[in-house]
Amino acid sequence: MYKKIVSLALASLVTVSMLFAGVDIDTAFAAERTSKKEKETEKKAEEFGLEDEVYKDLPTEWDLTDLYADEEAFEDDMKLVEELLPKVEEIKGTLNSVEGILNDLENPDHLKIDAILKKADMYTSFLRSIDASDSWAKKASARYNEVFQKVILAYSFEDSEIMQMPLKKRKEIFSDESLKPYAYSLRNYTDPDFVVLSEEAGRVKALLTGAQNSEDVHDIFDHIDVPKPTLTYPDGKEEPFSDAAYARIIQSNEYDHEFRKEASAVRNAMRQPYANTYAALLEGKMRSNWADAQIKGFDSSLEASLKDSDVEPEIYEKIIDFSHDMLPKIYEYYEARKEILDLDEMCLCDLNIPVTDYDTKEMSYDDAMNKGRKAVSVWGDEYLSIYDMIAKSSHIDVYPSPIKDTGAFESLEGNETTPFIMFNFDGTENYISTLVHEMGHAVYSEFAAENQNEYNNEPGIFTQEVASTSNEIMFNKYMIENAKTKDEKLYWLDKEITLFMGTIIRQCLYSEFEDYCYKTIEEGGSLNADDMAEKWLELNRLYYGDAVSIEDDYGIDWARIPHLYYNYYVYKYATSLTYAASVCQQVEDNGQKEIDAYIDFLKAGASDSPSSLLQIAGVDPLDDDTYKAAGELIGSLIDEFIETSGADKRSSGNSIKIDDRRKDVLTF
Ligand SMILES: [Zn+2]
Repeated sequence: MYKKIVSLALASLVTVSMLFAGVDIDTAFAAERTSKKEKETEKKAEEFGLEDEVYKDLPTEWDLTDLYADEEAFEDDMKLVEELLPKVEEIKGTLNSVEGILNDLENPDHLKIDAILKKADMYTSFLRSIDASDSWAKKASARYNEVFQKVILAYSFEDSEIMQMPLKKRKEIFSDESLKPYAYSLRNYTDPDFVVLSEEAGRVKALLTGAQNSEDVHDIFDHIDVPKPTLTYPDGKEEPFSDAAYARIIQSNEYDHEFRKEASAVRNAMRQPYANTYAALLEGKMRSNWADAQIKGFDSSLEASLKDSDVEPEIYEKIIDFSHDMLPKIYEYYEARKEILDLDEMCLCDLNIPVTDYDTKEMSYDDAMNKGRKAVSVWGDEYLSIYDMIAKSSHIDVYPSPIKDTGAFESLEGNETTPFIMFNFDGTENYISTLVHEMGHAVYSEFAAENQNEYNNEPGIFTQEVASTSNEIMFNKYMIENAKTKDEKLYWLDKEITLFMGTIIRQCLYSEFEDYCYKTIEEGGSLNADDMAEKWLELNRLYYGDAVSIEDDYGIDWARIPHLYYNYYVYKYATSLTYAASVCQQVEDNGQKEIDAYIDFLKAGASDSPSSLLQIAGVDPLDDDTYKAAGELIGSLIDEFIETSGADKRSSGNSIKIDDRRKDVLTF
């Protein structure tokens, strides 16, 4: 299947180039049409800054038959897994030698089960993304979950069987040369601190997994059960309030400061009566994570989470310190923003409105993809050949629909197919950030699938977000450098700075709050809505400085954030963008050697710890210079923003539309 998709992509490449060469067009009519088209292309090239259009009539819908031709084919695979499962029993009792371990790792039945599960997981989750209410989507998901549970239980003996052997013997086995290609995925077995539960304890834990669902309860409670107030707009129209409506209000120049502030007050008042319930829900999830950490023998939830991601504890300290070090510079940015917007009072609800009158262009999907490709072409031909293959595959679902999921994502499990991407393309130049972000994930996933074995080919978020945000940085840089007017330049500078503020600074704020909550619980206390509000306000006032007014009613804002349920997850957004900034700065300062190193990093997939992988790209998360380089990049952008804006006092301009994926991250 994988080969088939690649050759299809190549075939369409040939067709397109033949068309451009005019090979099959030789009538007068066709010639006229071609010259007309050329003129249009020239016009567009000028308008959009595109000299060559690589993409034309790109596919815009997923073809899920690349995964399963029909319902029957899916069911056949589920049955095949059930038939193969008894064979797993044969492995029992053999995991005490190099040969036994190798047989388990390379066992064709084992690999087949794994490959099917990955494909089925992608297939069922894509069906739900397209239409969660579809009956086949529900049925297939339930069937997949049933089979998945059976597989988990069938394999639950493995860890305990291996860990029964003394450490010395394990070290002997796992240091064998023949296991080297799998060394990273097997590292826990020779880690003296790694705790493995007994078979029975593991079974109890697996059975309890679904019972700890306060995260789901939070979603249902926050999205559905909490009553939504009515908001009266300046023109007298009344509409139900929602977070999506709020996001539109604070990103638009249609409304003034007073109305934005009123909308913010309505949002806070909506959740305030339920502050205690929100606190109890979050406490439930955090207590469950803390229990999990203790079962595994860790002294804190943070320690367990870092170990789980194989991230050195110093990295967490370094990123929080880095955000604090950046604060004086950030205060300068907010002061300048307040001056440009000519506001007597600037609240958090004023931080998303545009600072110039620049109007971003409306664009077709083909043109947006062409422009995005150009912005990331710095990564070279090998990168672009993968990029093109993905762009031209029917694995990208482009346009929004009322029943489709919002936001954007990329997904690839295993190596039997090529990456899938979902967009909700809004027809604007702004959306190119999202296009190149997800394409960055996709190229990384594909490089990993092509160059690594089954155990090392799925990079985690820590390095994945470096691959995606490097592209965003390159795109913004391209737009800043190619801006034709002062307003346009200021617009893209502000967008780039907002990316850093939302991803590094704000996520560190979230993480410090999360850390406060865990520490409270771990020290024997419990979460109290009043104390949480106080802490939330204290952190926000520290991070935003004197230029931004933060009202006391904002103390409930933490309650809406789902990321706080993800067990020390948000800091990874901050670290990844910091390292991406370092990579881009290095490429800018140096050149080809650094680009080659970055491609090697992408090809290395998940074959080592995040720190070791990043070192391949020349960025060491443990080295202070890495943070210094990122700090210099952000500092220079803020300086350029202040310099470009001059002392002009402006009124607000046109709306910045921020894509759905980053709504949680970038809106305040
Ligand atoms: Zn991403």
